[in-house]
Amino acid sequence: MPDPFTLADLPALTGRAHADDASLAAAAQDWGRVVQARPAAVVRPGRPEDVAAVVRFAAERGVPVAARGAGHSPFGQGQAEGGIVLDMRSLSRVHAGTGEALLVDAGATWREVLAASLPRGLTPPVLTDYLDLTVGGTLAVGGLGGASHHHGAQTDTVAGLQVVTGTGELRHCSADEDPDLFDAVRAGLGQCGVVTRAAIRLRPARQRARRWRLYYDSAAAFVADQRTAVRDGRFGYLEGQAQLDDETGSWRYLLEAAVFYSLPDEPDEAALLGDLAFDAESVERDDTTYLAFLDRMAEGETILRAEGSWYHPHPWLNVLVPDDAVTELVPETLAATDGADLGDTGLVMLYPVRTGRLGTPLLRTPFGELAWLFALLRTGDPYDVEGCARMVARNREIFERVRDRGGTVYPVNMLPMSAKDWETHFGAAWPELAAAKRRFDPRGILTPGQRVFP
Ligand SMILES: Cc1cc2nc3c(=O)[nH]c(=O)nc-3n(C[C@H](O)[C@H](O)[C@H](O)COP(=O)(O)OP(=O)(O)OC[C@H]3O[C@@H](n4cnc5c(N)ncnc54)[C@H](O)[C@@H]3O)c2cc1C
Repeated sequence: MPDPFTLADLPALTGRAHADDASLAAAAQDWGRVVQARPAAVVRPGRPEDVAAVVRFAAERGVPVAARGAGHSPFGQGQAEGGIVLDMRSLSRVHAGTGEALLVDAGATWREVLAASLPRGLTPPVLTDYLDLTVGGTLAVGGLGGASHHHGAQTDTVAGLQVVTGTGELRHCSADEDPDLFDAVRAGLGQCGVVTRAAIRLRPARQRARRWRLYYDSAAAFVADQRTAVRDGRFGYLEGQAQLDDETGSWRYLLEAAVFYSLPDEPDEAALLGDLAFDAESVERDDTTYLAFLDRMAEGETILRAEGSWYHPHPWLNVLVPDDAVTELVPETLAATDGADLGDTGLVMLYPVRTGRLGTPLLRTPFGELAWLFALLRTGDPYDVEGCARMVARNREIFERVRDRGGTVYPVNMLPMSAKDWETHFGAAWPELAAAKRRFDPRGILTPGQRVFP
């Protein structure tokens, strides 16, 4: 157990420290709604130097510290029992940018980043499906989206970072300046530093998005078309889903693709879809502004909040499946998955990324040209503890099968993993990560909720 402390012991801050019940209870909870760990204090930093002062204080006393962004982790990854949670949302300024990059505080959401970049005709190259995640939170895991097959993960689109290490040092790093720290922090699950600012590279934004939803009864045809489209890069955005037909109990597949354009140019639909083998009867298309497309989850979020399931447990599993296993492993897993396994508002995502576009050493992917993000986004019944436990056990079974076929986790999971599992997951990158942990967080205080170095 860490040395007990009170707020009066904390260093002087320009921000605020809190130990009231509401603050501690909020920091003890997350999107997963299963694991809870109550900190002794929540600090809302007023500037990066506050983060440095708090981490120095914590390192001297062996107090665990976790940064918290939007709190959308599924399994306590941003919690710190008896320790200090840094509520990074208080550091959310978007600073002035040059033409090519935007400097943002790590607690800013991607929605806030877009609000600053779009008026200048610019956009981050890769956005997550949900915009209300923080920059620091997604950089801690990687940040994948429908543009990753072009531009990699969000961690690949970062030009430089300001980081507070586990000894409380405030440092800058990039591919050229202190690259060891840069590589240890990007997709580093918060183990070696708290990101306080990020310089995000921007690209010209188009004004509109045309999106198609293409349906397939055959997994093989869906996979073949995904491979074709991801390799030739015809779409600006490419994702996919597997959908369960409740009546027949069978699965069908959805290829979701979009192109971004500015008028008077128009997408050439015949050229884009002509050689794909989807069910022509059920094509759905829409055409919206670029921002409306990026914010496509908003309507669903409003409904889920209103009906309550937004606040239910989320026993999520995200894995990366090797291309040579996808047509076997995915249908096999889905055949053993029914509506009860996914929960009322569960969703299965399935889309490929080109591993050659990913350049973040700690974002581990299977060998091969393509890796498939396979996400079982389950919703649990809050009154059915055993049901949630069954979902978590099922996650573990699927994880082991995927791992045994050479797959990895995309680390946004309600999945118990041992230190040995993490070592296997990080593979060739493990020695560097372990060395970076010893160097940048020698007291082992940062981000205990990830359970990488228990
Ligand atoms: C509705 C929804 C949609 C999603 N869609 C996608 C998607 O399309 N693509 C994708 O890749 N992911 C997606 N995710 C997963 C999401 O990217 C991760 O869960 C992410 O870590 C959450 O960000 P957050 O701001 O909520 O961070 P938190 O949950 O608060 O923190 C996540 C982890 O990062 C650490 N952390 C937070 N801030 C910092 C910081 N400044 N420095 C160092 N460490 C930090 C925390 O301690 C914790 O370990 C989605 C999640 C949800 C709930």
